[in-house]
Parts: sequence; C-alpha cells; structure tokens
Amino acid sequence: LKADFAMIRRESGFISGLVCVLHDVTEQEKNESERREFVSNVSHELRTPLTSMKSYLESLTDGAWQDPELAPRFLNVTLEETDRMIRMINDLLHLSRIDAQKSPIQLELVNLNEMVNFVLERFEMMIKSQNQNYKIKKEFTRRTIWTEVDPDKIIQVLDNIMNNALKYSPDGGEITCTLLETHNNVIISISDQGMGIPQQDVKRVFNRFFRVDKARSRAMGGSGLGLAISREVIQDHGGSIWAESEEGKGSTFYISLPYEPIEEDDWI
Ligand code: ADP
Repeated sequence: LKADFAMIRRESGFISGLVCVLHDVTEQEKNESERREFVSNVSHELRTPLTSMKSYLESLTDGAWQDPELAPRFLNVTLEETDRMIRMINDLLHLSRIDAQKSPIQLELVNLNEMVNFVLERFEMMIKSQNQNYKIKKEFTRRTIWTEVDPDKIIQVLDNIMNNALKYSPDGGEITCTLLETHNNVIISISDQGMGIPQQDVKRVFNRFFRVDKARSRAMGGSGLGLAISREVIQDHGGSIWAESEEGKGSTFYISLPYEPIEEDDWI
C-alpha cells in the first residue's frame, strides 16, 4: 500500500486538514509486471519465426534460389513461418478485443447436442480426408439440451480443444466427447489418449503463451494462445474450464456452462 499526503492550507496560512490517498500498489505492480511479461513473450514469439525466415532468405539470396531442389523447400518454410505469424497476430488481436471488452458475447438459444455434434462431424470429415485413423466417440446425454450461448465462440473453443486432442495424441488414438447435465450446469468433456500434461503444468496450460513443450507446439503450428482465448470465452459465459491429465496416458478438458433445464411445459 502506498500513501500520499497533502496538507490543506488556508489563506491565512493555517493548516486546516490533511488528505491521505492510499494506492494499492501491489495490484498496480502486478498488472505492470504481467504487461511487461506479455510484451516480452510477444516479442520473443515473433522473433523466432522472423529469425528463421531471415536465415532461409539469406541462403536463397546467397545462391540457393538457383538450386531447383532447395529453392522451393526454403520458400515453403518462409511461407509456413509467415502463416504462423499471421495466426499468432490474429489470436493476439482476438485476445486484445476480449481484454478491451470489444467482443461481447451474443447469446442465442441453441441445441447444444446438435452444436457439439456439428463440431465432431467436421473433425471426422477432416480426419478422413487426411487419411488419419483417430476415432471419435460420442457419449451424449439422451436429453436435448437447449441453452443460451454464443454459438460462434463456443464452437471456436470446441475446435481448439479438439485440435489439441489430435495434435497431442498419436494417430489411431480415441477421442471421447461427453455431454451431460447436472442440476444447473452442462458439462462437455473431451478426452484423448495422448502424451498428457505434467501435473505441475495442468493449470498453467490456460495461461497466455504457456506450452509444455515450446518446440513441439511451434512445430505443430501452435501459438500458445488457444486455451487462453478459450478460458476468456468460457468465463464470459459465466462458466469454467479445466483439465485433468496423466502423463503418457492422456488428458481430459472440461467445460462447464450454466444451464437451466427448460421443462417441456415451458415451451407452450
Ligand atoms: P498451442 O498452440 O501451443 O497448442 P494452447 O493454448 O492450445 O496452445 O495449449 C497450450 C499448451 O497446453 C500446449 O502447448 C500443450 O503443451 C498443452 N496441451 C493442450 N492440450 C493438450 C492435450 N490435449 N494434450 C497434451 N497437452 C496439451
């Protein structure tokens, strides 16, 4: 706590009062250090692809451009790095819009079973088209769950978690998605049989830029921001998101959203 004092002096010169202003500097300092860390992370994250691009472009200008085998390969790498930077900038812009509260959620009454199914079917199509062998299992409550969410944003969160389940588990693995309701929540879970997350990192995966294995995440085209964005979106919905994991066995991501069961009678 920081205190500033000011004396109130009358025209006559007598002191008639004392003003004391207390500032909570711990909060300010925390914000300031978070901001500094964020800027440092962003700079570092962008420097890596830029440095890599620079070395490939240097090789090209040094003569590799004439090599019919090397040139297309090097150009491809620079293209991939550019794509990665664009993805990261888009994620950053997205987060900054959320931070500035310029991205309010737009609630719509949706059939959650249908929405989750839509996402899973898209992934099934993608897996097939890429000749992969992941299996997607659905375990849905039989009840149709109607709830108010921002469909675009929740679909984005599910995409993120599904993408991670594929990215961090070997081909052929099973990914199970469950949908169930409790008294006043609806819970969606996505489990994979992948590499898992070390115990001490399970909570940290939702922090901006946190990755268990930076090299692996980068190689997979990750920005380290997907789960941070997901957490913001779920919190904006008044829900929560968390993970459970066992290294070498797999991970489960849970999303819980507020839910008020609508009785059939209420429809009429
Ligand atoms: P990234 O772009 O790196 O995937 P995310 O924010 O989506 O960023 O995830 C942060 C980190 O959490 C990942 O780098 C990875 O280390 C870990 N992670 C996320 N999902 C899984 C998963 N299903 N299995 C194992 N690790 C995961």
